[in-house]
Amino acid sequence: MNPRIGTATALLVLLFGCLSARSEEAGNMKNIRKVAFGTTADGKMADLYILSNTHGMEVSVTTYGATVVGIKVPDRNGKRSDITLGYDSLEGYEADKSYFGATIGRYGNRIAHGEFSLHSKKYTLARNNGENHLHGGLKGFNKVLWTAEKSSSSGPASIRLRYLSKDGEEGYPGKLSVQVNFTLTEQNELKINYSATTDKDTVVNLTNHTYFNLGEADTILEHQLMLKASRFTPVDAGLIPTGELGAVKGSPFDFLKGTAIGERINQEDEQLKLGKGYDHNWVIDAGAKQGLTLAATAYEPNSGRAFEVWTTEPGIQFYSGNFLDGTVHGKSGKAYPLRAGFCLETQHFPDSPNHPKFPSTVLKPGAKYHSETIYKFLTK
Ligand code: BGC
Repeated sequence: MNPRIGTATALLVLLFGCLSARSEEAGNMKNIRKVAFGTTADGKMADLYILSNTHGMEVSVTTYGATVVGIKVPDRNGKRSDITLGYDSLEGYEADKSYFGATIGRYGNRIAHGEFSLHSKKYTLARNNGENHLHGGLKGFNKVLWTAEKSSSSGPASIRLRYLSKDGEEGYPGKLSVQVNFTLTEQNELKINYSATTDKDTVVNLTNHTYFNLGEADTILEHQLMLKASRFTPVDAGLIPTGELGAVKGSPFDFLKGTAIGERINQEDEQLKLGKGYDHNWVIDAGAKQGLTLAATAYEPNSGRAFEVWTTEPGIQFYSGNFLDGTVHGKSGKAYPLRAGFCLETQHFPDSPNHPKFPSTVLKPGAKYHSETIYKFLTK
């Protein structure tokens, strides 16, 4: 080839490459906005990232606690509302005890007596729920600032949040490097991807604690819930799994067919009494080995809003907002009464470090923890 033509072609290729890289960046910037969310009590700045798609969906995530602050979705008539419980300001999240929208870690749900052993060495964790450890301790991943970056590629709005948890933090062994990606797709999916690595053997169980209310009513009792699970893990009075896998058949825990949350919630049932409602882990039938699997669906008949939960996790905690009591005032000063929202927390089973028969939550150096959950929104 004529060397001049060759150089000209190379320049053109370079120019085209630069231009497309710039437009990719611009494409990604358009569907993500970053605004200041406030300054923490100890003087650090928190940001809010607002992810949007072309169907009118919007998801906002703050770097404080890697928390989902809002999810706006249209109803069947196109009316857009925020379907999550939470606060208008950072101060609300700093004072929060309900874990609204938060990323939960290092270990989602309870560890009995705040104790577990690894290779015969006993570890003692913070006891922040009676005598038990809950959702990572006194200062879990929901109460720390994460660093954020927009994902640089084109395509759906996506942000990457990172946090480095120190060796010994809240009593856990090993320095844990955690990454959580939030992506909003054109298919109205909120994808949450978790990954982590450690420098010592430790336990990890990450989840998201968004409280949903898809309609206008004060409670979620009319929502139809379906859980693809024939078994659940019954609990004791401290909400710690007894270790058995109970069959849901013939009990108020059977959500294999879509059923209103309120239909059986007040039935005479020992497990419902212990949970003050539903606050249990369901064992997803497909199991974690199947990769991403449909675990749950929720539907609110008045608004027509619905969502599916897909996950790589073996369990899902359905919590019916039993500890809300009207004393917490959230967005627009609204009081959140009993059962104002519900959570579907994908997870490994609670207290797994003390139940060798449950799927293991141990992470070793050299291995990578990975977990994915998709909330896919639709209307009916
Ligand atoms: C737990 C509840 C707890 C709630 C915190 C849920 O995941 O299972 O027992 O009260 O989180 O708001």
